[in-house]
Amino acid sequence: MEDCLFCKIASGAGDADVVHVSDNVVAFRDINPQAPVHILLIPKEHIESARSVKDRHGDLLVELFATAAHLAKANDVDRSGWRVVTNVGPDAGQSVHHLHFHLLGGRPMKWPPG
Ligand code: AMP
Repeated sequence: MEDCLFCKIASGAGDADVVHVSDNVVAFRDINPQAPVHILLIPKEHIESARSVKDRHGDLLVELFATAAHLAKANDVDRSGWRVVTNVGPDAGQSVHHLHFHLLGGRPMKWPPG
């Protein structure tokens, strides 16, 4: 998608602090971090949100979660704990309409989230 910020980052054309790239997945540090570790994981394929995930995305979702676990370890929050969040739609506060998972860690987190 031409005007999608995360498609630009996925293609290497955007300005982002990229920490991981594979054939299907890119991960980069959130520009407005909400925790000491705040990394966004995205598919290179433009998928609008979790609402648009199809059966054929199974392997991609496995890779996204496996990459989150790998990055949690690489950023030393593996033992202390970490959270994966994906926002869908206005009530959840989704601001970028390209599927992304927030990997958050490095501080105690509350439940329920705000
Ligand atoms: P959401 O509100 O769940 O759609 O999350 C979008 C996230 O993208 C927010 O946490 C933003 O801070 C983050 N963000 C927006 N633009 C950039 C960028 N250029 N590089 C890194 N993170 C970004």
